[in-house]
Amino acid sequence: MSGPNTDYDPVQVTPLDEENVVAMRDAALAAIEAAGDLAALKQVRLEHAGDRSPLALANREIGALPPQGRKEAGQRVGQARGAVNQALAARTAALEAEHEERMLVEEAVDVTLPVDRAPRGSRHPLTTGAELIEDIFVAMGWEVAEGPVVEAEWLNFDALNLGADHPARTMQDTFWAEPADHHLVLRTHTSPVQARTMLTQAPPIYVVCPGRVFRTDEYDATHSPMFHQVEGLVVDEGITMAHLKGSLDHFAGRMFGEGIATRFRPSYFPFTEPSAEVDLRCFVCRGVDSAACRTCKGEGWIEWGGCGVVNPRVLTACGIDSERYTGFAFGMGIDRTLMFRTGAADLRDFFEGDVRFSSSFGTEI
Ligand SMILES: [Zn+2]
Repeated sequence: MSGPNTDYDPVQVTPLDEENVVAMRDAALAAIEAAGDLAALKQVRLEHAGDRSPLALANREIGALPPQGRKEAGQRVGQARGAVNQALAARTAALEAEHEERMLVEEAVDVTLPVDRAPRGSRHPLTTGAELIEDIFVAMGWEVAEGPVVEAEWLNFDALNLGADHPARTMQDTFWAEPADHHLVLRTHTSPVQARTMLTQAPPIYVVCPGRVFRTDEYDATHSPMFHQVEGLVVDEGITMAHLKGSLDHFAGRMFGEGIATRFRPSYFPFTEPSAEVDLRCFVCRGVDSAACRTCKGEGWIEWGGCGVVNPRVLTACGIDSERYTGFAFGMGIDRTLMFRTGAADLRDFFEGDVRFSSSFGTEI
């Protein structure tokens, strides 16, 4: 037995006197009034109206009273319990109404708000750019060739006539894969794909090879240790530099607009002989009044890539009869080409995966 009746002595009858019952009732009513929500009220109901509440226990003890006290005590406790139950019912109704009202406000849907659309991404400009380039060459009957990013040193350098002492092989330019005696590199250009093609296919060969390449460059607005190149290779009978020029003029015209041609400047690459730098006619000023042109900085031409007639030593290294066949090769940066084409000022935008950048190319076909 607990509560105010523990010291109940049926002879004295004091715990069931008016004062005690009123105290129990008032305590219950105060607790009901103080309950701030339905969960708190549930607890109050247990404590003040449950089977073990002071009033319930008092009710149980009525039977132990002398007969002359039972009626009065019974009325007193019964009225107190009635008042408590009434207060509980009223408070429950009030709290339920309050809860409902709050939910209506909190869960209200403002139909005038803009629709919360799931943002849609976009294909990356490098993907669509590489596909555009592939399409230009596939339309001429060329094939697309691919190769591994981690490449054999021999295919990346030796097969392409880059001798053991060539500066490009040094640690400053090339990422070498461990362990060193496996002679693997992250390819420094897409040219090993050309070597692989020549080693596995007999001429005629007409391939374009887009892909990722790696060099130990700084990472800034115009450089990156990872970038994208596209190279082309043709090996067939009677191929000359004129075919190379015609192919690149066609490529430039399709990428930058009709009439945008290329020019060659003499250069040197180990895998081609003769070799040339390729410049692109500025597609903004088209070489007319170039002085004010920001795209070509007044030159009328934009540096685009390198090219040349395939060095017979490369053909021989790849098992092709260099007496019978000749070929040409060219290569340029895809990222750089797309920067010209789109006016993007910072190379890093292409690599940092901000969907807002990709989305701005979303309508490009
Ligand atoms: Zn210009």
